[in-house]
Order: sequence, then structure tokens, then C-alpha cells
Amino acid sequence: MFNRSCHQPVLIGKYNAMLDNIAICYSLKRSYKAKYIRLEIHRQSGLTIFIPRFYKISGLPDLIQKKKLWIIKKLNEINVNCIKISKKETQDGLDLPYLGKSLKLKTQSNRELPESIVLAGSTLIINHHRSNNGLVRVIEAWYRQQAEILIKKRAEELCNDMDVTYNRLTIRKARTRWGSCSQKGNLNFNWKLILVPEPIIDYIVIHELAHLKEMNHSQRFWNLVAKYCPQWLQHKKWLEEHEADLTISNL
Ligand SMILES: [Zn+2]
Repeated sequence: MFNRSCHQPVLIGKYNAMLDNIAICYSLKRSYKAKYIRLEIHRQSGLTIFIPRFYKISGLPDLIQKKKLWIIKKLNEINVNCIKISKKETQDGLDLPYLGKSLKLKTQSNRELPESIVLAGSTLIINHHRSNNGLVRVIEAWYRQQAEILIKKRAEELCNDMDVTYNRLTIRKARTRWGSCSQKGNLNFNWKLILVPEPIIDYIVIHELAHLKEMNHSQRFWNLVAKYCPQWLQHKKWLEEHEADLTISNL
């Protein structure tokens, strides 16, 4: 017995955590061999967190928040194949704008499965345990996560091209602005950018990154934007024309 318990990770329990508005469940195991904390996601078992022998569980909520984007991305990847939608529970929903295209919404409320939101092809599949009002918040939280993943990735790539560096990047619910850049080099982006076509997201990211060199809207600034985004004027006009339609509030 002694040997076995020394080498096999021991299940401490199954827990729930909230990642923004999305509930996830995970198994927590203590490993007597592990030196560091480890996260694994498998199709059958979902998320498992392995902690070393003397790790204090009180540190877990912070760790989970730090790893949030990775966890959501991985769960989305594996869930695509494991969510089974029962025809009876599923309702065909509305079209939702996403990256300039549209997604079909399918919802189910199966309490035996954890709450989840998964993009499978062009269908957004949601299993939820709440009212329709709560559903809008779940969808908005998902959009924000997708916006964060995509905009961070593009900002990093474009920083390399443009030879600039920023301090911090945040996705916000801004009512009027698409993006902003502070004197300290902090960038903010509106989550609704995830609704527009990707070249237009790039234009906004390039616009804010250009402010890291030119903190104004001078000719020099626009020349810099044009260098990395020759179609900028077209994209700027597109945003002005479509701004009012970019909403998911008609759910
Ligand atoms: Zn500007």
C-alpha cells in the first residue's frame, strides 16, 4: 500500500471553477513525485490539475485564472467531438455575427453535462443551466475570450513586424471606441471586434500599435498605418457604416 500511494497521484476531489461566466469542472490530484503543478486535458476525463505534495490548495483559484485562456482553448478543442446534442433538447437559434460571417446558435440545457460553449464549424453549441437572460451573458463572455485570444495573437505578430512593444493588452466592453493606446503603452480593445472581418481587426490593432510610435493622428501616423495596412481607409469606413449593426443584443 505504501508504495502504491507514493507513486500514484491521489484524487483529492472534483471541483468547479468559474472562468468569467463559464463554469468548468476539474479533478484535483496530488502527486507525490511531481515537483511542479501540471494541467492536463483529456477527452474522457476533462481537466485534471496535478499538484505537488506540499502545494497549498489556496493558490489554485489564481493559477486557474492565469491559465484561463489555455484551459478554454483546450476544452473547446476536445469538446467539439464530445458534446452530444439530443434533438429533443436542441433548438435552432439565431444567426450570430462572428469574424464578419455568421454562426448558427444551438442551445441545450442538459444538467448532466457541465456548462460549456463550443464552436464546431460554424455552429455555436451551448449547454447551459440558466435562463435565456443568463445565456446572453454566457455568449458575451465567450466572445470576449475569443477576442482576447485572437487580438493578443495578432498584436504579438504585428508588434514584430512593426518593431514596437506594448505594456499590457486588455479587452474591454467599450461602448464607443474600438481601441485605445495610453501614454504608458497599455492597449485596450473592444470585445466587439470579434464580430468584424479579420482584416478590419488587423487595421484596429495596427492603428493602436502605430500610436506607440506616433501618439497623434498626424500625417506621419497615417503613413505608418498605411505601410502595414494599405486598405486602412476602406476598413475605417466599413466600421463607421456597420457600427450600429454589430450587436448580439437581439438574442
Ligand atoms: Zn488613433
